[in-house]
Amino acid sequence: MTVRVRIAPSPTGNLHIGTARTAVFNWLFARHHGGKFILRIEDTDQERSRPEFTENILNGLRWLGLHWDEGPFFQSQRLDIYKQAVQKLLDQGLAYRCYTTSEELDAMREAQQARKQAPRYDNRHRDLTPEQETAFQAEGRSFVIRFKIDDEREIIWNDLVRGKMVWKGSDLGGDMVIARASEGGIGQPLYNFAVVVDDMDMAITHVIRGEDHIANTAKQILLYEAFGAKPPEFGHTPLILNKDGSKLSKRDGATSVTEFQQLGFTAEAIVNYMMLLGWSPPDTTQEIFSLEEAAKIFSFDRVNKAGAKFDWDKLDWINSQYIHAMPVEKLTDMLLPYMEASGQKIEGKYDRAWFEQLVAMIGASLTRLPEAVEMAKPFFSDTITYSEEAQTQLQNPQAKDILTAVTQALANGEPLTAESANAIIKQIMKAHNLKKGAVMKTIRAALTGEVHGPDLIQSWLLLHQIGQDQPRFANAIA
Ligand code: GLU
Repeated sequence: MTVRVRIAPSPTGNLHIGTARTAVFNWLFARHHGGKFILRIEDTDQERSRPEFTENILNGLRWLGLHWDEGPFFQSQRLDIYKQAVQKLLDQGLAYRCYTTSEELDAMREAQQARKQAPRYDNRHRDLTPEQETAFQAEGRSFVIRFKIDDEREIIWNDLVRGKMVWKGSDLGGDMVIARASEGGIGQPLYNFAVVVDDMDMAITHVIRGEDHIANTAKQILLYEAFGAKPPEFGHTPLILNKDGSKLSKRDGATSVTEFQQLGFTAEAIVNYMMLLGWSPPDTTQEIFSLEEAAKIFSFDRVNKAGAKFDWDKLDWINSQYIHAMPVEKLTDMLLPYMEASGQKIEGKYDRAWFEQLVAMIGASLTRLPEAVEMAKPFFSDTITYSEEAQTQLQNPQAKDILTAVTQALANGEPLTAESANAIIKQIMKAHNLKKGAVMKTIRAALTGEVHGPDLIQSWLLLHQIGQDQPRFANAIA
């Protein structure tokens, strides 16, 4: 058997992080078994589906490296197939037209509530005679198609994550609506129905999705039976929770892949973190995985049942690991859009080659990509602003001596190198009987306006290359 799995997002919003995580697990499972990963866009909800969301979902999956083998298939292009399938169930007497009005449904629910019963459809139109149907039609009533659900049925499956699952037919809310009417005929199919028709048609062997779909699975298994088809295997992955244990929401800062991207997370880090949200690798000391590496060892035995708590610190740490390991050219490419968006052009004396050296220096301290903008700022501006600490440092009585000595040492016009810069510092320490820290801190304050920052010698060399070191020393003395 070739494993065939799918991700089936609804384009009613941007690619959600939960959908991305489900996609990761499907992708890993497919690759582990040499199977196929299929993309299906569930766009039957015409009011809420938007092409821009489809675009966002496709781009998001591509960006994350979750390439699909087949599709995208669009449910909106398969309506005739669903209609035929509905007709099949009608012909077999497994489904029927239900003419109950919304007022009647409301009254039914209210009566059930008054009796403290769970709301359910009471199957009142299950066995209408042709005369009754004609009478309802004559009244101008519209209908929906309902699929018969036997209250006494037990529905059992062995979930890949949760083990043995048992549901009763009576827990499913009565005969379920599988399609609406349209101009007197069969119209829009409903989610549970379209999914089953598609999963059968696309020969899906394993349905891996969020645990919010568990009740749907019970209903869907009954539909497979009605079609005489063997249900696929099912695996329900835990939900992504915030720190308090409630479902991750907008209030937690980000829920769509686009938002995570805008916050400065790399695709590799997001995917890596998604894997660890619910799955633990056999060697729990390894935390950094590419998709390919994880695919080799992925299995549902090591997927947790419990909800997966979203940990921003962990994601930040993983992101920093990817940024620090990135070749400088690639990191530079990734940082350029942020620099541009901040109004900083990489041109003239601040050219690409110079900026790459700057990136090589600050890259090691980055956790999220946009932080580079602030870190790079002291290296660009022609006018320098001093932090309070830097001002204090520069008001120190020795500061003037140190900076005058630096200026004199630079006056010989010899090219500055790491070696000569270090030699200048040593010489000042000796001449003025100062500690290295004091000299370095003063030079840093003069050069960058800060008392902390990246490697000082490298910072100095970068400013020297654009002719910015001597003016800054002069400015600090003045
Ligand atoms: N369209 C459904 C969703 O976005 C897919 C669920 C499934 O995988 O069957 O949640």
